[in-house]
Amino acid sequence: MSAAYLCPVCRANRQAFDLVYKLAQEIRKDPETGKTVYRSDELELMRREDGRPDIDVKCRQCGYAGAEQSFVRAARRDQRSALPAF
Ligand SMILES: [Zn+2]
Repeated sequence: MSAAYLCPVCRANRQAFDLVYKLAQEIRKDPETGKTVYRSDELELMRREDGRPDIDVKCRQCGYAGAEQSFVRAARRDQRSALPAF
């Protein structure tokens, strides 16, 4: 993904981020006791509908973590507001 990021919270960071990958592990529980009765050996990478990894982005400056889209949108909004107004 080549879209620019801007942290939507501190709005000062465009460069240093962590990508947070989500892993899913299937479990089954006993509904009465809450005991976990099955736990898959495999961790599965969570993907979005388009097949790309479902990642969050974390700002390394203020620590905020949220959906990748919110960082992309913040960068786009910021670009627009930097254009001269007619
Ligand atoms: Zn930030």
